[in-house]
Amino acid sequence: MTNKTVSRPPQGGEWITTGDENGMSVPDSPVIGFIEGDGVGPDIWKASKPVFDAAVKKAYGSKRQICWWPLAAGEKCFIETGMSLSDDTLQAITSARVVIKGPLTTPVGGGFRSLNVTLRQKLDLYSCIRPVKYLAGTPSPVLRPQDVDMVIFRENTEDVYAGIEWKSGTPQAIRIIDFLKKEMGVNLDPDSGIGVKPMSPTASKKLVRRAIKYALDNNRKVVTLVHKGNIMKYTEGAFRDWGYELAKSEFADRIVTEDELVTDYSGKLPEGKLLLNDRIADAMFQQALLRPKEYEVLAMPNLNGDYMSDALAAQVGGLGMAPGANVGDSVAVFEATHGSAPKYAGLDRVNPGSMLLSGVMMFEHIGWKEAGRLIRSAMEQTVRDKIVTYDLARLMTGATEISCSGFANAIIDRM
Ligand code: NAD
Repeated sequence: MTNKTVSRPPQGGEWITTGDENGMSVPDSPVIGFIEGDGVGPDIWKASKPVFDAAVKKAYGSKRQICWWPLAAGEKCFIETGMSLSDDTLQAITSARVVIKGPLTTPVGGGFRSLNVTLRQKLDLYSCIRPVKYLAGTPSPVLRPQDVDMVIFRENTEDVYAGIEWKSGTPQAIRIIDFLKKEMGVNLDPDSGIGVKPMSPTASKKLVRRAIKYALDNNRKVVTLVHKGNIMKYTEGAFRDWGYELAKSEFADRIVTEDELVTDYSGKLPEGKLLLNDRIADAMFQQALLRPKEYEVLAMPNLNGDYMSDALAAQVGGLGMAPGANVGDSVAVFEATHGSAPKYAGLDRVNPGSMLLSGVMMFEHIGWKEAGRLIRSAMEQTVRDKIVTYDLARLMTGATEISCSGFANAIIDRM
């Protein structure tokens, strides 16, 4: 894990610092790192940056501006330095604390398993945060997409994503199978592939703490622990138990459980309290479609969170409109959640919506909420006016199809 920092900020900017115990101290010219990314990354970044700058100017005049700091990672970095992700970049991210990134192609044939997973693990960005909210006018496959307004907190460092696995037939897999048989009395098919699913109270509680804090700070009323604990008792089931344990020890005066709601409060949540409940993952997928209004903040282990994020994003119009952030205790990396879509690279064609909405999250994170609101509402107006990129245009009637940068300019016009 890196914890080294770069001492001097780039010219024209100041570092975001830790500030008081409640969070960060953000100067008027904060340094914010950006990683353009691979494939369509430069297209969506070129389109998004002017939108971010225009929103800051509109909201704060000349009082505030962002000092954008280019950081190298991905294919271009590999060509220039022989590395896809260097220690210099990791140190720069640690110094900047706030970074926004485009998608990174996972190199094929060795090197990092995934640059994104590496970033999350090296910087201990333990929570993947995905707000899923409908932007009016966006084509959706469900009848009432406006009923979806949830924020997913997905644990980002453990679970089967820890990358501990051995291929069927390898000496390592055979050794583990042998160990399980001799030492634990467990019989597996001798040709099994093996994966390990580690989940700890430390990481689970950190994630649930963040989800509960978010809910309390943002006036949300329900936090749901989503797990598959009926089958995987000591990982997923334990996640649920650790979640309740944490809530009881740190938020006892603010939390009401589902049982308490019935026994102590006649089913009515008292003012100022937060309902903490839990759902088994498969049931939660059904609930998300049938009763989305009953859910607000979901705290989930890594794999469940991955599935749920994309499924919910689909309900509000797909990944092109889904923002995300990977957040640790001191560093936050905001990112377009789709991949690098290489066949569209350099065509100025794809939808920059995911990066733009990740920018909205970034502005909320640094407390520049007015700038975030301007982007969101101008984007909503643009979609309502049916001025959209190809991916949405083909699902709408009477839409005007526009380029990636054209969509961004239309948003700026509507601020
Ligand atoms: P992808 O998301 O790049 O593309 C799949 C398809 O989705 C595209 O062909 C396109 O039709 C559509 N699409 C994606 N983004 C769009 C946008 N902004 N606007 C409109 N349409 C869009 O998925 P993939 O092809 O599986 O992955 C390509 C590369 O991206 C891989 O190397 C993968 O590892 C990487 N990846 C990176 C991230 C990340 O950096 N966070 C996430 C997922 C995949």
